[in-house]
Amino acid sequence: MSSLATRCLAHPERPGIGVCTRCRATLCEECATRVEGILRCRECLAQHAAPPAGRGWRSLSALLPALLLGPFTALAVAVGLWLLAVAWAALYGWATKAAS
Ligand SMILES: [Zn+2]
Ligand SMILES: [Zn+2]
Repeated sequence: MSSLATRCLAHPERPGIGVCTRCRATLCEECATRVEGILRCRECLAQHAAPPAGRGWRSLSALLPALLLGPFTALAVAVGLWLLAVAWAALYGWATKAAS
C-alpha cells in the first residue's frame, strides 16, 4: 500500500482525491478545482493559458469562455457607460425642463 502517493502534495495529512491533469500533482478535495470535468491544481489553474499537451480540443473548450469573455466584458462596460450617459442626459434634460 503506497499511501504516500495518494496524499495531497500540499496537505500530507489529507488523502488525495485526484491528480492534476497538467502537472500530475496529487490533490486533496480543497486543492483540486474542477474545470469542465478535469482536475487542476491551483498553480496550474492560475496559468491555465498554457494548454496541456495532447488535449488540444479540451484546452480550446476551456479557453473559449475566456476568449469570449474578454471582448464581452469590454462590450458590457462600453454599453454600461453608454446607458449611464443616456440616462444621465435624459435625467438632466428633465431636470432642466422642470426647472425652467
Ligand atoms: Zn497542476
Ligand atoms: Zn491539499
